Amino acid sequence: MGIVLKQREQIATMRAAGRIVAETLLVVQEAVRPGVTTQELDALAEAYIRRAGATPAYKGYRGFPATICASVNEEVVHGIPGPRVLQDGDIISIDVGARYRGYYGDATVTLPVGTITLEAQRLLDVCRESLDIGIEQARAGRRLTDISAAIQAYVEGHGFSVIRDLYGHGIGRRLHEDPLLPHYGRPGQGPILRPGLVLTIEPMIAAGAPDWRTLEDRWTVVTRDGSLAAQFEHTVAITENGPEILTLP
Ligand code: MG
Repeated sequence: MGIVLKQREQIATMRAAGRIVAETLLVVQEAVRPGVTTQELDALAEAYIRRAGATPAYKGYRGFPATICASVNEEVVHGIPGPRVLQDGDIISIDVGARYRGYYGDATVTLPVGTITLEAQRLLDVCRESLDIGIEQARAGRRLTDISAAIQAYVEGHGFSVIRDLYGHGIGRRLHEDPLLPHYGRPGQGPILRPGLVLTIEPMIAAGAPDWRTLEDRWTVVTRDGSLAAQFEHTVAITENGPEILTLP
C-alpha cells in the first residue's frame, strides 16, 4: 500500500490515541507485583482503554483474545494473558495498542516484578536506551535503516542480541502500515524518512542468542535458548522539528 504520510491534524489525533496507550501502561505498571495474574492486568488495561473512549487494538486482531500482550521472562512478544501468577524476580513486557477516532497508538514497556537480578535490570536498561537511540535517528532526510543500525550497534555493544524477523512498522488508520522496520542491519537502506511518517520503533532484545520460536498457542514467541528477553516500544512521528514520541502520558 505504500507509505501514508500524515497531516498535522492526523498526528494530533494519533497523539491523543498515543496518550491513552501510555496512560494504560501506567495503570498496568501500578498493578504489576508478585501474586498478580496477567489476566488481571489485561482486565485493567481493557477497562481503562474503553473508559477513555478508545478500543483495544489487539483484541480480535487475527483472533488474538486479549487487550494486552503479556510476555514473561523468555517470552519475547505476543504472550496471551491468562491465569499465570507473576513471581518475584520475573520481568514482564506489556504491549498495548488502542484505536481512537480512527487512529492507532502502540507502545510497550518491560517491567520488573519485585526484585530482579542485576543482569535482568541491565537488559531492561539497555533495551530502553536502545529505543531512545533509535528514536534519535528518526529524522527527516535520514534513511529508515539508520534507525535499525543504531539500535543494533548499541545493543550488541552491551553484549545483548537483537531479535530477528520481528519488526516495527508504519501506523495510522491501520495498525500495520508500510514500511517495516528491522531493529538490526546496515545503515543507509530503505526509504528516506519524511515529515508525516509515523512508525513504531520497538526493539526486542535477548540476553542470549537472537533466535526464537513460537509456542503451541501459535502466538507466544520465546527465545530458542530460553534466555530473558525485553522490549520497549513507542509510536513516533517524524516532523520538521525532529522525532516526536506520540505515546506519552
Ligand atoms: Mg505494540
